[in-house]
Amino acid sequence: MFFAVIGLISSLIGLPFEIYDTFWIEEKFGFNKTTPKLFVMDKLKGLVLAVVIGGGIIALLTFLFGLLGNMFWLAAWGVVAVFSIFFAMFYTNLLLPIFNKLTPLESGELRASIEKYAAKVNFPLTNILVMDGSKRSTKANAFFSGLGSKKNIVLYDNLINDMNTEEITAVLAHEVGHYKKKHVLQSMVISVVQMGIIFFVFGWLASNPLMAEVLGAKQNSFHLSLITFSLLFSPISIITGLLMNLFSRKNEYEADNYARETYAAIPLITSLKKLSVNHLSNLQPHPAFVFFNYSHPTLLQRMRNLTA
Ligand SMILES: [Zn+2]
Repeated sequence: MFFAVIGLISSLIGLPFEIYDTFWIEEKFGFNKTTPKLFVMDKLKGLVLAVVIGGGIIALLTFLFGLLGNMFWLAAWGVVAVFSIFFAMFYTNLLLPIFNKLTPLESGELRASIEKYAAKVNFPLTNILVMDGSKRSTKANAFFSGLGSKKNIVLYDNLINDMNTEEITAVLAHEVGHYKKKHVLQSMVISVVQMGIIFFVFGWLASNPLMAEVLGAKQNSFHLSLITFSLLFSPISIITGLLMNLFSRKNEYEADNYARETYAAIPLITSLKKLSVNHLSNLQPHPAFVFFNYSHPTLLQRMRNLTA
């Protein structure tokens, strides 16, 4: 209940900003397709998921803390790691369909081109899905998710409308590159190790009464310790986020190179140009801003790499 109240208050504070972002800023530049009804539905679904999944995990962690004391961190790490791996695997099968409609590729010229490419690189076509992204935004995208046999490539419907067959196949080749170079698996391993370190440090600090005292409590409290810990951790997460962005940008180059080697560079370049136009991306962001915030290299950097 404690975390539910905190979560509810913080999402209420964030709500006006989200409404402003979607219905004013995104709207002003012609991106927004979300209707107020869809926005409310998304919020309600998100709330139910947060209560069921988030609430369930928090309840389990609180229970484990009471049960195990000092050894709590190890069990908590196990629980959160299992949940993360489960959701990483089943994201496109379980969570995504709650918000979007996913359909297999329709037969035609595009499917034929993708079939040919998928056969060449030995990627199962049944795992390529089209998502109705256009119901929320004009911004097109494509992504790879899942692990092992649960791998999926999702193409937004607006990507398919904006690009020609060769360009879409090139984007798909880039996503297959993420799979072939084991990027999802590596990110998963990194985040599980990171979680282990976080839980170890939390387990070590949680029994320290100071953690609750700084928030005004008279006695040790698991709940308040968790809040203090998350405040203390936020500067550290800036550094880990920076490292993750570095890792992600390296992976983007690798996936681009894979697409060039197994398909072609030119249609990937033109598709990236179209995506930049579609997103009104900044063509010359400051290098320092790119270093700290960008998960992908800039268009110019990717074009240079692909033509090198
Ligand atoms: Zn990528």
